[in-house]
Amino acid sequence: MTRPPRDIEELIDLMARLPGLGPRSARRAVLQMIRKRALLLIPLADAMRNVAVSARECVSCGNVCTSELCDICTSEKRATGEICIVEDVADLWAMERAGVFRGRYHVLGGTLSALDSIGPDELRIPRLIERIRHEAVSEVILALNATVDGLTTAHYIAEQLEPMGITVTSLAQGVPVGGELDYLDDGTISAAMRARRAL
Ligand code: ZN
Repeated sequence: MTRPPRDIEELIDLMARLPGLGPRSARRAVLQMIRKRALLLIPLADAMRNVAVSARECVSCGNVCTSELCDICTSEKRATGEICIVEDVADLWAMERAGVFRGRYHVLGGTLSALDSIGPDELRIPRLIERIRHEAVSEVILALNATVDGLTTAHYIAEQLEPMGITVTSLAQGVPVGGELDYLDDGTISAAMRARRAL
């Protein structure tokens, strides 16, 4: 069996690790890039290098950004009294696409999971408590995925925030059990946000 040249095979192997791509899709993608060197391969390599240098986490909310604080945290147009808690940056992006939330976010970076030994300190939960102490927050909206770990995490956070006098609400109907925010259409997210309820 003749394999592709080593450099090309390395690129295929790396691409195949991306979500949604397997070895077959990776091979096709790499071939297409090589064929479209000027249009695709070189701009892609440049864009990747730029992002590799500039991408970082917002020190406040955990969003992906290119400076210390993200655009949402620094925007004066966003309400400061509401924090929407999401598991992942992809969920934050899904909420932003739906365009129903005008407050700020907090990205946990996962969910509590006894099975994977992920406790509160492995997530951005201490930072959340710190934010709530220092920012004038009146409502926390839990927009976690409707999975078992998502629900466990939601209840844990609600328990922590209750003594602090914070209203804790959760996205309502529309988020199917086992559902992940990133896969929902904008209308469903909007409806779930409007119909949020106290936890
Ligand atoms: Zn931020």
